[in-house]
Amino acid sequence: MQAIVFPQAEAMSVERVDDPPCAPDEVIVQVAQCGICGTDVHIYHNEYMSDFPLIPGHEFAGTVVEVGSAVRTIKLGDRVAVDPNLYCGACDFCRNEQANHCSNWQGIGITRGGGFAQFVAAPARACYLLPEGMSDQQASFIEPLACVVHALKRFRPAPGDSVLLFGAGPMGLLLIQALRNNGASRVVVVDKQPDRLALAQRFGAVTVQAGPDAEAALRELSRAFTARLSLRRGCHGRARCGGTGLCLPAPARSVPSVRRHPQWGHRARKPLRYLPQRLDDLRLLCALLHLPAGD
Ligand SMILES: [Zn+2]
Ligand SMILES: [Zn+2]
Repeated sequence: MQAIVFPQAEAMSVERVDDPPCAPDEVIVQVAQCGICGTDVHIYHNEYMSDFPLIPGHEFAGTVVEVGSAVRTIKLGDRVAVDPNLYCGACDFCRNEQANHCSNWQGIGITRGGGFAQFVAAPARACYLLPEGMSDQQASFIEPLACVVHALKRFRPAPGDSVLLFGAGPMGLLLIQALRNNGASRVVVVDKQPDRLALAQRFGAVTVQAGPDAEAALRELSRAFTARLSLRRGCHGRARCGGTGLCLPAPARSVPSVRRHPQWGHRARKPLRYLPQRLDDLRLLCALLHLPAGD
C-alpha cells in the first residue's frame, strides 16, 4: 500500500510499504478520509511520545476490508470510525477507571501505524459503525468532536454560562459550536489569526485579537462573567504554545503540572503522566483533547 511516513523527525515521504497484518481481534480499514491534527505536527517535530518511522494519522474513517478470525461485531463492508486510543483494560490504571494513564497505552497513528495510509489495522472494539448518510468527511471529524463532547461532559457548562476560550483552531471552533449548542450564553475566544476569529464570530463567539491590547479587552469583557477571571495569574499565558484551552471562571490557583504537557510547549517523553487527575477541582481544562474518554 501507499502511505505517508515520518521516517524520522522533521521528515516526511510517500512510500510503498507492506499492508498491515490483521490480528484475530482486529479489522483492516481502508481509509476514506483522515484529518490532520495538531498532534501530527507535534509528532513531526518530535515533540510527542512517538518513535520513528511512523505512519501518523488518528482522525480517520473508512470501510472494513478484512476481518480477524475472532471478530464478531464488525463485518466486511462496514463503514466505521476508529477510536485511536487503545488501552489494555488490565493494568492498575485501567482497572481504576483511569484508562488514559494505561501502562500499556497504544495510539493508532501515534505508537502504531495510522490513517495517513490506504489501510490501517484496528482492534474491532475500537471501531464504531457509521450511520447511513454520514459522509466520509463528516466521519473523519468524529474523533476530534468526541474529544469536544468529552470536554463538555467534564465541564458540564450550565445554561447561561460565559466561557472564555483560548485558541480558535479546529478544536476551538468545534468547542465554540458545541458550547453554543449547550446553553452557553457567551463564548469569548482569543486567537492570533484574523481568519480564524472571523470563523469563530460566524459561529457566535465574541472575538478578541491576541496581542498587546488583548488583556485590556479581556478585562473589559470579564466584567460580564459570573466570577472574576484570574488574569493576573496569566492564564492566557499558559495557552500560548498551542493546543486549545477552555477556561471557565476559575479560582486563582496555579496548575504547574499542566504546563508540562507537550501541547503546551514542553517536551516530555511520557506526557500523559503529568496531567492532573482532578480537573474538576481545577476547573481548568487544558489540552485534554487527545486524552481518551474515561478520565
Ligand atoms: Zn487529534
Ligand atoms: Zn491499561
